[in-house]
Amino acid sequence: MEFAGVDPVADLIPIQPGQHYTMGGIDCNTEGETAVKGFYAAGEAACVSVHGANRLGGNSLLDTIVFGAIAGSNAVRYIQGESGKKGETALSDALSRAGQRIDAICKSDGNEVPADIKVALNKVMDNKVGIFRDASQLKEAIAEIKVLQDRYKRIKLNYTGKRANLSLEWALELKGSLDVAEAVIAGALAREESRGSHFRTDFPKRDDAVWLKHTVAYFTPEGSRLDYKPVHIGPFEPKERRY
Ligand SMILES: Cc1cc2nc3c(=O)[nH]c(=O)nc-3n(C[C@H](O)[C@H](O)[C@H](O)COP(=O)(O)OP(=O)(O)OC[C@H]3O[C@@H](n4cnc5c(N)ncnc54)[C@H](O)[C@@H]3O)c2cc1C
Repeated sequence: MEFAGVDPVADLIPIQPGQHYTMGGIDCNTEGETAVKGFYAAGEAACVSVHGANRLGGNSLLDTIVFGAIAGSNAVRYIQGESGKKGETALSDALSRAGQRIDAICKSDGNEVPADIKVALNKVMDNKVGIFRDASQLKEAIAEIKVLQDRYKRIKLNYTGKRANLSLEWALELKGSLDVAEAVIAGALAREESRGSHFRTDFPKRDDAVWLKHTVAYFTPEGSRLDYKPVHIGPFEPKERRY
């Protein structure tokens, strides 16, 4: 109430939806290893696949603390053991690439405000890629994301300082959000069934015969390339949720 500046005795409390957790993420195993050798993922960014097709509250600690510690120590072990001489310039090369990317964003003199693109992205994802989705909405959404990705190429930051620059941080995040959004929509469009938080109103039934598999999306400059990998079945048979 302090932040919103309202007195709940007299005023309504403003509320707005927020994203609670990203299901899926960078595909990795329980060691935090990804398809890219030497690149580890943990936390909300990762998909260790301990949550299935849904993640009910409370398990971020598992992702961040348990798998974070495992991925972190594996990354250290990898650097100490494998990189040797050939890795001497790896860090400076990576830093220079990151620097060039940041410089390009800071020098970009377009007319697009990153925050406007983010609002538009939120709107597309809220309106067309919610829990209930269908093919026509998803196709429209993917076309709209392409437009936003194009607009992103013409952004201009209102502040380009290198210290604690939130505009820059949000612009970097926005690029990731646009690419992830595209992968989410491509996966949702291909998956012609309903399961977990993915409910296709045009395919309302769960279809284990065809779709009991993980979607893996690869980034390509032309768009997301989809692949699939099997689900490891534990002691419990997967079954439809009926509540
Ligand atoms: C409203 C809300 C309630 C929640 N409640 C719970 C709960 O009750 N229990 C629970 O277990 N979990 C809860 N969670 C989830 C939990 O907070 C997160 O899963 C967890 O904080 C993720 O930590 P992380 O370090 O993996 O990622 P983050 O904390 O998201 O850190 C990622 C960092 O990467 C930075 N970044 C992104 N892109 C780039 C880039 N391109 N370059 C450089 N940096 C970049 C970001 O700025 C950010 O600082 C909740 C989340 C929300 C939003």
